[in-house]
Amino acid sequence: MHANHKAITEARHKLGITLNWLLEPVCFLCEENGEWRHGLCKHCWQHLPHNLLCCRICALPLASKGLCGACQATAMTYDRIIAPTVYRHPIDQMLCSLKYAGRLQWARTAAGLVVDCVLQQDLELPHLLLPVPMTRKAIRQRGFNQSAYIARLVGRQLKIKVGFDVVHKTRETHRQSTLSRSQRQQNIVGAFALTRPVAGTRIAIVDDVVTSCSTVAELAGVLKAAQASEVNVWACARTPA
Ligand SMILES: [Zn+2]
Ligand SMILES: [Zn+2]
Repeated sequence: MHANHKAITEARHKLGITLNWLLEPVCFLCEENGEWRHGLCKHCWQHLPHNLLCCRICALPLASKGLCGACQATAMTYDRIIAPTVYRHPIDQMLCSLKYAGRLQWARTAAGLVVDCVLQQDLELPHLLLPVPMTRKAIRQRGFNQSAYIARLVGRQLKIKVGFDVVHKTRETHRQSTLSRSQRQQNIVGAFALTRPVAGTRIAIVDDVVTSCSTVAELAGVLKAAQASEVNVWACARTPA
């Protein structure tokens, strides 16, 4: 009887280990270690290209803390960009896989990175999150707007309202990455329209990656022209110069 009981206990224990192994969430990146933070294991998390030294205003990665040349020379339409990582391996693959392969799990990691970074800054939180909009046609083609996914998760964690329909993208623009700096600005001017008043509202624009800043600068300009009291940009990554 006693031996029997022991055998059952041992079997239960073994089964428990197997079940834990089956049920424990595994790191999205290495698919080996258990999840530690926002879908990643501790090792993969620590080895992300964290954007620690960057421009105080536009989050451009720099060699030391301070302001980049562009921000020293010109006033920006937005108040500040927050971007916890540099758009390098594996963040680039992660965000491409989200956008082009529909791997929505990466929206959770991206949102987690943004939330952690925002909480570390000890900021006054915005009233409203605005995902960078896509045209209806582009959403039909891709099936979803990745910025809206990230914004929804950030909003849920920080208890901030997300304005999915506050701003529309009224026309298709060329892919910003294929254009020169002045072409990018021309390309995006007049591409956004507000559907409701935002006067006195503190806003954070949410995007997956900020590359040239012309898109978020144009959108921030539209919001500031409509008297938004503060416009920051929260993105998962920032492209280096
Ligand atoms: Zn891992
Ligand atoms: Zn800057």
